[in-house]
Amino acid sequence: MRLRPLAIALLLSSAPAIAANKPTSIAAADLETAAHLRDQALHDDTAYDFVAGITTEVGPRLAAGPNDAKGREWTIAKFHAFGFDKVWTEPVTYPKWVRRSEHGEILAPHAQPLVLAALGYSAGTPAGGLDAEVVGFPTLDAFKAADPASVRGKIVYVGARMHAHRDGRDYGIGSAVRTGGPAIASHKGAAAFLLRSAGTDDNRLPHTGVTDFTGATPIPAAALSSPDADLLERMLAAGKPVTIHLALDCGVEGEYTGANVIAELRGSKKPDEYFVMGGHLDSWDPGTGAIDDAAGVAIAAGAAKLIAGLPKRPARSIRVVAFANEESGLFGGKAYAQAHKAEIAKAVLGSESDAGADRIWKITASVKPQARDAVAQIAAVLQPLGIEYDASEPGNGGSDLSAVHAVGMAAVSLHQDATRYFDWHHSANDTLDKIDPEQLRQNVAAYVVTAYLAAQAEGDFGSKPGAWANEHE
Ligand code: ZN
Ligand code: ZN
Repeated sequence: MRLRPLAIALLLSSAPAIAANKPTSIAAADLETAAHLRDQALHDDTAYDFVAGITTEVGPRLAAGPNDAKGREWTIAKFHAFGFDKVWTEPVTYPKWVRRSEHGEILAPHAQPLVLAALGYSAGTPAGGLDAEVVGFPTLDAFKAADPASVRGKIVYVGARMHAHRDGRDYGIGSAVRTGGPAIASHKGAAAFLLRSAGTDDNRLPHTGVTDFTGATPIPAAALSSPDADLLERMLAAGKPVTIHLALDCGVEGEYTGANVIAELRGSKKPDEYFVMGGHLDSWDPGTGAIDDAAGVAIAAGAAKLIAGLPKRPARSIRVVAFANEESGLFGGKAYAQAHKAEIAKAVLGSESDAGADRIWKITASVKPQARDAVAQIAAVLQPLGIEYDASEPGNGGSDLSAVHAVGMAAVSLHQDATRYFDWHHSANDTLDKIDPEQLRQNVAAYVVTAYLAAQAEGDFGSKPGAWANEHE
């Protein structure tokens, strides 16, 4: 039979649509290999050795700071040693914020020193510091409602408190105060901004983190340790005027160009398509960035190294990204999304680890409906690790990869137990001893299963430009 040209055109044009509607699936032999990789991961300390190594030999990795390049070089050498087929960098440019010194004390009614840390992008105080009266608010909303006349020229303090939860949800409260409070204070004419640290601990250690002065003039902004916040609140509650001396020497000094470090195991059948996983290489400076986020890079690298040990490379490539400067505004993730958005359909699925190294308890996914069964197949291999599949919630892929997901990559989120995470996050307590080797191995097991099966799946997960634009998370 001879088909007319129009009929041929119709057949050809409907072929991809048929392929796209075919359910994505995973072969039984691949599920078996994944289960084997999972069990291997539970006896493998590559990830722990990575975190121990970088926290010992490099230490804190403040974006644009003295260890930015050192951390990158350390990671590049390690990726080469792990046997990746290709290791490269892609440039990322961001503002260089510098912390030189910080000091605070209550002058009246009862003189007491304060333990505090400047926030990323905080302005410095005038040389010699500033003295001002404090006006306190229990919540960000109470401060938002305040008459600017009541805070003009004063130091604003917001004392919102976070509590520990497995899903870490109170970080929404603490990070909103830290990120949004200082700019509002600037708009209202305040001299400076202080907050109770966005943390769940009672240590006398402040938790730093980024703030956002977009559209506002930067002012001095710092976080008090939780016991210092209690002290300040007791004095404020007593009703006498409270004055503070604040001296911060910090601020933005131009721009810096760092890089995302990327490593790849080249796929045997579809090398242009890949599963991507990772973490961010930068950290805040008071600790050594063990849980935030050497652990994330280590989990991805540890999982990829196990796959590299298989007799044959999986069908698709496996990519590991150690992102630059997540902390002060997802710079690495946004640069990656910009550089790769034209070929986003080739990024078949991704997941980033950025909530420490405690046990993963849940997987969620943003995939096309025809790929739900394949995610359920992956979840069945994860189930012996104590991981449940919640099909009702999306998964944005994690911090930097949320920026890649936003331009169209399908994503899964492997949710870590965050109960302890915000005790240490962004503080001097973010150190190696907080990593539980057994729980870290469980993380690697979950990532190796997900990576291998996504790379072997028959069919895709729905990555295409703008695919998740209408998703609500
Ligand atoms: Zn992080
Ligand atoms: Zn962080």
